[in-house]
Order: sequence, then structure tokens, then C-alpha cells
Amino acid sequence: MRKIIIPFLSLSFFVIASPILGQQSNIKPLRTLIIDPGHGGQDPGAKGTLESEANVALAISLKLGDTIAKAFPEIKIHYTRTTDILPGNLTNLDASLKYRANLANDNNGDLFIAIHCNSAGKAPGGWYERRVVGKTPYTKTVKKGKKTVKQTAYKYEYDNVWVENKAKGTETYIWAIGKNDAKINSVAKNDFSGEMDSTSTLSLPDPTDPAEKVRMLIYTQNFFRKSLQLADYVQEEFKDADRIDRGVKQRNDKGIWVLQATAMPSILIEIGFISNKEEEAYMLSPEGQKEIVGNIFTALKKYKEKLEEKAAKSAENKEKKSF
Ligand SMILES: [Zn+2]
Repeated sequence: MRKIIIPFLSLSFFVIASPILGQQSNIKPLRTLIIDPGHGGQDPGAKGTLESEANVALAISLKLGDTIAKAFPEIKIHYTRTTDILPGNLTNLDASLKYRANLANDNNGDLFIAIHCNSAGKAPGGWYERRVVGKTPYTKTVKKGKKTVKQTAYKYEYDNVWVENKAKGTETYIWAIGKNDAKINSVAKNDFSGEMDSTSTLSLPDPTDPAEKVRMLIYTQNFFRKSLQLADYVQEEFKDADRIDRGVKQRNDKGIWVLQATAMPSILIEIGFISNKEEEAYMLSPEGQKEIVGNIFTALKKYKEKLEEKAAKSAENKEKKSF
């Protein structure tokens, strides 16, 4: 009985695993792109002084899609939303997150790009804080035992001081759980200043669950390098445009749920801090939007060319082998 079961199991593993593992050698060109503007509808995301993250993300996403469509008409583009709604016009945040991932997977995306804005501090723009602004010395007499002595004391002056919300710059997230790579900064939960889908109850894969472990391994083998490559290109472009480069990061919390749920290379770009007045103005201006879109587009173009280069090389190798 045992002898029959073992070959059967290994054969079924091969049948299941080979289409997935086979992707490694077949370098797929970039044909289907999923663009995911973060938040939307009832979920405005982080708030700026003038505009919501959801609307900024949507504007950038649509312009990015237009630019890519013009340059590469062969790429099929799917948006998770094109108006100010939660994807799928859903009213439940978790369901809308699943909708984003399903849309990407059902359309066999080759790449998933999510667009978000970062946020930090107590309020967009800045806030008032009660602080000591000056002290005046005066002399007071105090009793020390039977004696009275003179002592210098201070009278403090307080005022409400305006504290500017200064955090700024760009960062790109990838899903890289369990990966130790010098290029990626791991962000601890408390470190993270942003807002990302904080009301979601979806949980990340449990690394102790064998089925989840297999899925994580497949993601790591097939999609991790590509995601990192593109994330790197994006940050390079931002840096060249004199934006503050906060780096390529991974985060192990709900904010990246959608990245691990898509069976394709995936990145999440935080295009700037909407809580910073200066960056908000930049992200809302036509020039700023043009530059951000241009940066992401150039990165994507490099990524696409790299894929094609690799595909050409692998075809060349195959040809050599057949002789
Ligand atoms: Zn967001």
C-alpha cells in the first residue's frame, strides 16, 4: 500500500507545483499591469490640509496608467478603482482589500503597483503645543531649619507654539517576510508613522501553517527579486528628482496585506507625506504630479527592459542547447 501512495503523492506534487515553479525559468514579459489606488469612498486614508490620500492616490494612478498606455499600448492595464469609491463599490474595507487582490489574480497580472501617501504627526500641516518659551529668575526666601535663606527661583512662561509637521519623503514597500536583505529596511510596527488600512481585520499569513509556508516560499522564489528590483528603481528615480529617499522597506503588518495576496511581483509606493504641507502642495500641483508619474514610469520602463533582456538571454541559451 505504501509503495503505491508515495509515487502518487510525489506525482501530484509535481503536477501542482510545476506550473508555479516553472514560471522561474520562463521569463514572462510585462503584459498585464494592475494599478491600485489606495483607499477610496468611505475610506479617505490619511488627511492632508486640503485633500485626502484617496484622491491624491487616484489622480496619480490614473495619470500613471495613461502614460504607460501611451508608451506601451501592448500592456493591458486594470485599475482596482477609477473613481472615489472603495474597489468593487463595496462598503466593507476587508472585502474591498480582497477585491483588489482577486482582481489582480483573476486577470493574471504580471505586476501589481499600489499607490499611497504617507502621513505622520498629530495633524496635517502642524499643530499647537504648549511649551516653555522663557523663564524669569526671582529671589525667594525659604526656611532651612531655623534660618531663612534666599534662593533663586524661576517663573516660567508658556505659550502655544506652532509645531510644523515636517516628516517628508518617499518610500516603497515590498513583501519580504523572513528575508534578510541589506537593501531592505524592516519597519517595526511602532516605527511606522502611516495610516494604512488600520481598520482592516485581515491577517497576514501564519508562517507556522504549512500551507501558508508553501505559498510564502513560492512568492519568495518567484516574485521577491522582481519586486525588490522595481522598488529599487522607483526609489532611485525619486532620489534623482531630489525627493527625500526613505528607502525600500518591508513591513509585517496589515498595511501590506494586499502585496502578499497577489500572486505576482508587487510594490506599494508611498509617493510623499500628505501630512507635510509642502509635499501635499507638490502632490496636488500639476508639475508635481507630472514628476511623480514620470519617476514611476521611468522605473517601470527600466524594469520592463530588464525583463526583456533576461527573456532574450534565456531564449539565446535555449537555442544554444538545441544545437
Ligand atoms: Zn494609504
